[in-house]
Formats: sequence, C-alpha cells, structure tokens
Amino acid sequence: MYLNPQFCGIKKYRSMTRITVAKGDGIGPEIMDATLSIIMAAGAKIEIDEIEIGEKVFLAGNTAGIAPESWEIIRTNKVFLKSPITTPQGGGYKSLNVSTRKFLGLYANIRPCMSLHPFVKTKHPIMDILIVRENEEDLYAGIEHQQTDEVVQCLKLISRPGCEKIIRYAFEYAKQQNRKKVTCFTKDNIMKQTDGLFRKVFNEIAAEYPNIQNEHWIIDIGAAKLADTPEVFDVIVMPNLYGDILSDVAAQITGSVGLAGSANIGEECSMFEAIHGSAPDIAAKNIANPSGLLQGAIMMLNHIGQADVAERIQNAWLKTLEDGTHTPDIFKEGTSKQKVGTAEFAAAVIANLGQKPSVLKAVTYSDNLAIELPKYKRKEPATKTLEGVDLFVHWGGSDPNELAKKIKLLESSGIYLSMITNRGIKVWPDGFRETFCTDHWRCRFKAKNGEQMYKTDIIELLEKAIEEDIDAIKTENLYAFNGTAAYSLGQGQ
Ligand code: NAD
Repeated sequence: MYLNPQFCGIKKYRSMTRITVAKGDGIGPEIMDATLSIIMAAGAKIEIDEIEIGEKVFLAGNTAGIAPESWEIIRTNKVFLKSPITTPQGGGYKSLNVSTRKFLGLYANIRPCMSLHPFVKTKHPIMDILIVRENEEDLYAGIEHQQTDEVVQCLKLISRPGCEKIIRYAFEYAKQQNRKKVTCFTKDNIMKQTDGLFRKVFNEIAAEYPNIQNEHWIIDIGAAKLADTPEVFDVIVMPNLYGDILSDVAAQITGSVGLAGSANIGEECSMFEAIHGSAPDIAAKNIANPSGLLQGAIMMLNHIGQADVAERIQNAWLKTLEDGTHTPDIFKEGTSKQKVGTAEFAAAVIANLGQKPSVLKAVTYSDNLAIELPKYKRKEPATKTLEGVDLFVHWGGSDPNELAKKIKLLESSGIYLSMITNRGIKVWPDGFRETFCTDHWRCRFKAKNGEQMYKTDIIELLEKAIEEDIDAIKTENLYAFNGTAAYSLGQGQ
C-alpha cells in the first residue's frame, strides 16, 4: 500500500514562485542542501530568499528566534520551506515553530504517514494514513500561570471557528483524494466543554459528507489502535496536542521519523517542513535522512501548482528506496543494498529522476488541487446568562470544612457558596478524608433560588475577600448559553 501524498493547495501560484528558505540548525543545513539540489535538478520553477532563524538568532539575544526583516520576507513570499531548528533550553525562548504557525494563521497541519514495505522495514506493511492536526489552539495557546506555591495552570482554548476550519479541511481533503473515512480522536468523556466542542463540530460537519465514513475514538484507545493496527485508519483529524504526539508515533511506525514531511496551511501563507527536529546528535555527519524535508518540499511543489515536478521527484525517491539505497536510519541488513550519506542519497534520487518504482505504486499528481474552504460565518450570538462564579483561592490549610467556614463569610443576600473543589474533585460539602489537597481551591458561588447573578456580585465578593484576608487568585464566570449550563461540574458533584 502506498499513500499518494499529493497535496491540496489553497492558492494557485505563478509559474516561477518566489519562496523563503531557512536552513535551520543541527542537521537542517545538510538536509536542506540535499532537498534543494533534488528539487532544482527536477526543474522546480522557484526563486529563493534565504533567511536565518533558530539557535544563532536566539543566542544573539532575540527571544523570538527570528529578525523582524525575516518576517517581512516570509509574509511577502507567502510560501516557506523550513528546516528544523533548535530552541535553546531554559526560560525566555518562545518556540518559533508555534509562533510561525499562529502568526501566519497556518491552521491546518497535514502529515501523511505511509509504509514503504518491503523496502523500509516496518511492523505495519499496510499503512496509509493522513493526520490532519489543528495547528493554532488547544494547550498550544501557551497561556500558563503559576497561581499558588504548589499549582501552575495551562489554559486549553478550543474555538468553534478553529474546529470548523480544521474538520472541514479534513473532509474536503478526504473527498478530493478519494479517501474513504475520516476519524476523529478526542477525550470528550473528560473534557466535555473543549474536546466536547471539537467532537460536536465533527458530528455536524461529518453529516455534510454522507459519502465519507466517519467515526470517533476516545484518544487513549484510538492511540493504542493506531500503534497496533494502523491499517484500519485513513484520515484522522485531531486537536493540536494529540495530533502532535500521534503524528510522530504514526511516522515512527512506518519505519523512521526521518521519512515524514508536513505541510502547514493557512488562508494566505503556507510552511513546509520535516516532522522531525534538528537531531543535534547526528548533525554535520552526513548521515541524516533528507526524506522528511524532501516530502515537505514535494507537498510545497504541489501546493504552488508544480505537480509535474513534484511527481518526478516522488517517483524518483520511491525508486531510490526501492533500489535499497538507504541512509543509516532505515538501513537494514537483508532489505537494504547500499548504505549512503545524506549527499549521496540526494545524488541517487537525482540520478533516478524520470524513472518510476516498479513494486511501490508510482504516483500521478494533477494540478487541480485547490481546496476552497468557505469563510467562517459567525453564528447568531446566544442568550448568555451569568449563573455563578468560581472563586479560586490560595490557602495553605488542609481541612476543607475550615476553609468553607471562612469562605462562607463572603456570601451575600444574592449569592451562596455551593461547593469547594481541589484540583477539580469536590471536597466540600461531604468530601472524602482520603482526598489529597493542594493549596489551590475552587470555591463555587451560585445565585440564590436559581436566579441570575450580576457582575456587581462578583466585585462585592472580591472586595469582601480582601476584607477577610482571603487570597483570591482568579475568578471564572459560570454562564449558561441559551439556557444550557456551559461549565463543568465538580468531580463527584
Ligand atoms: P529529533 O527529531 O531532532 O531527534 C529524535 C531522534 O531521531 C534522534 O535520535 C535523531 O538522531 C533522529 N532523527 C531525527 N531526524 C532524523 C533524520 N532526518 N535522519 C535520521 N535520524 C533522525 O528530536 P529531539 O532530539 O527531541 O529534538 C532536537 C531539537 O529539535 C530540539 O531542540 C527540539 O526543540 C527541536 N525540534 C524542532 C522541530 C522543528 O523545528 N520543527 C521539531 C521537533 C523538535
């Protein structure tokens, strides 16, 4: 089985396309040189602006890892071919990969993972998966705070536009490529609001594509099935974090993480890369596999309307692997014939340009690849009612009954303390003595008699907290939308 990693562009480009290239860190320069030598030899009609990003820029004191002028070049050219970079360890350095995806609105991360059996050794000879990962939100919003001595938090943001764009993209892609099934992975049994929204939108959009099968798996068993029987999956769409992890798993079980490329697609700009990192352990040794970045470049050529060049390269690459010409990461005695370095592998692919594989399925790409997604239309706003507020408190005690006595002093004529939780589990009223408690407490106030609460009640609450010397660290409003409560209950409530 072999996946046709033909890729769907959003925009059509001129015959000569100006692209931005960054050679990155670690093995980045060697795999980029190999990739560029192949695509130029194949006749890619591109002009290149090279920029410097990554470790050197970080260490020169730029915490973003990229100079403002480089952003301008990326935004002007709109198409970016990028080698992996090293983010220095330690605080203060922001991940340039994450900021590039978000600044440029690259909402869809597409990662094809395919087996090249019998030429690349794998436990999963029949594997042909396309992972569509949401790329802008989820825990990758990077909104984190330390709130007490013992507790830090990371905000998980999932939006309806974010879900609609990525899920529609997955179904449109499946339709275009004659894929049979789209699977969704979430953990909506636990995260009923965030993952729950992703799944709800999946169900809504799936209903618009009756000819494509759809299914949903809870991420834990879904991940186990993916690692065990990847052949049962086709297109898989996931929120950001799950997609990040599982696309590496999927790439690795095809034979090597060094084989997979990735496209990051937005409405205006796009970025193409390998899925692996800068592999400093093997840098400058001429042993890295350039295939991941080459696969990214092939997606790029399809994206910019140079399908004929992309096709020539992909077939030559398949032929090279079929010949048994392998870099050390995929070299296996018995299966492989010749162990080669990065540059020699590139030379072998170039020598095979114009040829096709004979066992692996040769690819045929067409130019008509544009996927036009409708612009997101904001829905009519719902009727939003304030039903209560969660007051988060930093308190070093251990007996929730003692805390409840203090917090009850904050009640007023309109609001009352309904529950206290610690790390989400209800500890008052009627908590369990065995429950371990940290110094981070959520105290839920509701309006009396099920009535509406007002923002002035919250201000009054916070003022009283100051008077009573209670360390309020944040509040979270509890809303109902069109009469449906839109917040989680306490665990055990
Ligand atoms: P890694 O992907 O760089 O390496 C993991 C393992 O896979 C290493 O043993 C490496 O030698 C091997 N490997 C990776 N690519 C290979 C290839 N093309 N050919 C042969 N073997 C290959 O992951 P890591 O070691 O966790 O991260 C190293 C650095 O890369 C870190 O600084 C990390 O932040 C960065 N990183 C960057 C990106 C990116 O720029 N897109 C992505 C992931 C990690």
